[in-house]
Amino acid sequence: MILVFVEHIDFQPKKSSLEALNFANSLSTIDSGEVKAIYLGTRELSINLGVFGVKEVYRIDCEHNCGSDQIAAVLSDAIGKLSPKYFMLSHSSLGKTIAGQIAVKSGMGLISGAVGVVKEEKVKFRKTVFSGKAYAYYGFNENGGIVTVVPNSISAESSSNELAQYSTLNLTIPQSQIRSVEKKLVKGKTPLAEATIVVSAGRGMKDPSNWGMIDELADLLGATTACSRPVADVGWRPHHEHVGQTGIAIRPNVYIAIGISGAIQHLAGVNNSRNIIVINKDPEAPFFKAADYGICGDLFEVVPKLNEAIRKAKSV
Ligand SMILES: Cc1cc2nc3c(=O)[nH]c(=O)nc-3n(C[C@H](O)[C@H](O)[C@H](O)COP(=O)(O)OP(=O)(O)OC[C@H]3O[C@@H](n4cnc5c(N)ncnc54)[C@H](O)[C@@H]3O)c2cc1C
Repeated sequence: MILVFVEHIDFQPKKSSLEALNFANSLSTIDSGEVKAIYLGTRELSINLGVFGVKEVYRIDCEHNCGSDQIAAVLSDAIGKLSPKYFMLSHSSLGKTIAGQIAVKSGMGLISGAVGVVKEEKVKFRKTVFSGKAYAYYGFNENGGIVTVVPNSISAESSSNELAQYSTLNLTIPQSQIRSVEKKLVKGKTPLAEATIVVSAGRGMKDPSNWGMIDELADLLGATTACSRPVADVGWRPHHEHVGQTGIAIRPNVYIAIGISGAIQHLAGVNNSRNIIVINKDPEAPFFKAADYGICGDLFEVVPKLNEAIRKAKSV
């Protein structure tokens, strides 16, 4: 059995957890059968996870915001009780924090940051190495182990009409060593990792004071903004907007790259986008090779015209 930990915001499962479920479904076709899910909370999730191929969903009753140490401890207890062959979770900030703790407590091996799974002689989990230029493959012994799944490495589409059974798992949440003082959610924009449209800009913008047209384009399209790393490094944009090998990996339907050259380290985080649109004045910019659509021109002319055209189209 494969057990997947589902993170949620107000009982709405996170996209990255639904991706982990789909990853588990792929694994289940080559090893270890049924996919089950587990989450912490006081009531049912907003969607029945049966549509994501889950047979059974366990809820651990938890009335308060648990600390990561409590979550790791109670999930280790759940693993002890349910004995899954594989325990999977998103490679999210929480997932990264608790996966190692769970591995130590449960005595299971850990493969951190998988982007795919294959079966040759044995089941092997794929990880990207060298800025996404190559893959490395890792496997467990016959006992299985824990796998964290990189957000946006697989889609989060539902695949079934079945309903899963829900039940409560009676486990005691231990005392925490950590106290959550305050939680602040960024309001308004969809988080980058979950966005379906992303408008991103780089050093070609020349100066942070020029970003108004990028924000305007993003507002018109209902998009989330992103940037290349050098732009975040010099403080033109916040670090949480930086996409790429060392930033966030994204998988939007549309990625618009403006004044970004398309270095391999940038592409490593965006090349899973369904449609890539590049605006660059240099016809030799490497990004054009990865683009579905390209506009070769000066962004200071192209973007204001684009904004105006979208504004007009929306007002019709
Ligand atoms: C270990 C390592 C990790 C890295 N990780 C990342 C990462 O995660 N993400 C990342 O983004 N980078 C990363 N980098 C940096 C990466 O190698 C590139 O240096 C960076 O992506 C370049 O950013 P840029 O495209 O904004 O700038 P530049 O390379 O300077 O490109 C600017 C582009 O703007 C175009 N341009 C200029 N003026 C205009 C105009 N008026 N109109 C239209 N186009 C214009 C230019 O033709 C050019 O193509 C990493 C590097 C290393 C070594």
